[in-house]
Amino acid sequence: MGTQRSDTDRATQIIDRLLEAYPDSTISLNYSNRLELLIAVMLSAQCTDERVNTVTADLFEKYSSAEAFAEADQDELAEDISSITYYNNKAEYIRNTCQTIVTEYDGSVPDTMSDLTELSGVGRKTANVVLQHGHDIVEGIVVDTHVQRISRRLGLTTEQSPKRIETDLMELVPEEHWQQFTHLMIDHGRATCTARNPACADCVLEDLCPSSKLDNDVDLASNEQW
Ligand code: SF4
Repeated sequence: MGTQRSDTDRATQIIDRLLEAYPDSTISLNYSNRLELLIAVMLSAQCTDERVNTVTADLFEKYSSAEAFAEADQDELAEDISSITYYNNKAEYIRNTCQTIVTEYDGSVPDTMSDLTELSGVGRKTANVVLQHGHDIVEGIVVDTHVQRISRRLGLTTEQSPKRIETDLMELVPEEHWQQFTHLMIDHGRATCTARNPACADCVLEDLCPSSKLDNDVDLASNEQW
């Protein structure tokens, strides 16, 4: 009980400091409606947001509705997104997902976790982003590679799988910060707590972090020596 309490307090301190460090932290994918959001998030799996934004600038001009994606030719759509990782699979997921959206949801992106995760190629992470930013529904915490790495470094979880990490974080992070937590972790992961060479000496969380290179030998993200 005492440990849980102090972990919760530490999580709150971490959030407060990151909110101060990154006051404008938010999603970095470009989109102008829910369908574009869903497709941008699907494209962003294992790909940078910058690259996705470059591709979607033209893509969303060419395909402007779920019907348009649903009726797209597989090879042509794959070609249109060919600078993105796993473009063939992603083109197929997008076509299948949009076919379902057209036939079962009248062309609108569904607004529940269970309906979203039934869509082809849509997992809990994608669904959480779409619910949060497309529908203003916060059901969980989006766990991407930055959240996964930094939460472990900070000792907020010892789990490996995104689903279990999310469950741990939902215990520690106050619900009003569930959405922002992800963006703060992503900004901190890009600016300071990078995968290969975190800048612990310049980190606003240094005194709260059990992985800090300044006084710890082990990176808790990997459980290996720094
Ligand atoms: S102290 Fe180092 S490992 Fe810990 S959060 Fe900061 S940059 Fe990351």
